[in-house]
Amino acid sequence: MAAALPAERPQPVRILGVRVDALTYASLLDAVGRFIAEGGPHHICTTNPEFVMEAQRNPAFRAVLERADLCMADGVGLLWAARRQGRPLPERVTGSDGVPLIAERAAAAGWRLYLLGAGPGIAAAAGEILCARYPGLQIAGVYEGTPADAEAPDIIARIVAARPDILFVAYGAPRQDLWIAQHRAALRVPVMMGVGGAFDHITGARRRAPRWVQRLNLEWLFRLVTQPWRWRRQLDIPRFVWAVIRQPGQT
Ligand code: UDP
Repeated sequence: MAAALPAERPQPVRILGVRVDALTYASLLDAVGRFIAEGGPHHICTTNPEFVMEAQRNPAFRAVLERADLCMADGVGLLWAARRQGRPLPERVTGSDGVPLIAERAAAAGWRLYLLGAGPGIAAAAGEILCARYPGLQIAGVYEGTPADAEAPDIIARIVAARPDILFVAYGAPRQDLWIAQHRAALRVPVMMGVGGAFDHITGARRRAPRWVQRLNLEWLFRLVTQPWRWRRQLDIPRFVWAVIRQPGQT
């Protein structure tokens, strides 16, 4: 059954044709609670300008974003583009801040988390840090694995056996979201979310931009300087800006 979204849910904004939902951290937490109460699989995406540009090239990824139950606006570029269209989004809602907030709510509500992906030992370390920070938090399981097809049956069996309420997948975009969408029915987890580098940020394996850099809307520049090997992917940021500026007749 399709996710029963409340009538008051605002219409998504379309950025270069890609759906982005108007969310706040509070409404994200409400939606997670609702999805868990409903049961059945739900997919939450942490959409940013690189997702939007990947969706222009990759119809399968575009379809995954379209079918997802929620697409967060995880990137200042999306807020800028939405404002230009006269449909401002309430706030930037990131995976890296969303994961600890969901974990905090999970500790209070009894929701069980499964942490999948990231480098050796990172998911386990992130789980331990979250448990120390939010007493009572239940980690149903952690596993590194890879998004390779050959590993999927084993990973799915582990997750189904652990019966989590929430599955965070850190395989990087677009793979993590393609993986969730491909295995969504078999996994049967009420909330599944691709979280990119969130476990690396929680453990400190990778430093996140300081808050003042985030406030200046320059987190993308920090990533370019600290992870220069991503420059090819980050070319999507000027491509995104250019595509938004030159798009005709905005809605
Ligand atoms: N990752 C992984 N397996 C893979 C590819 C990526 O575990 O096959 C992990 C990587 O270690 C990192 C996370 O995925 O923890 C996010 O990677 P990336 O920085 O590429 O994603 P982004 O944050 O840009 O979405």
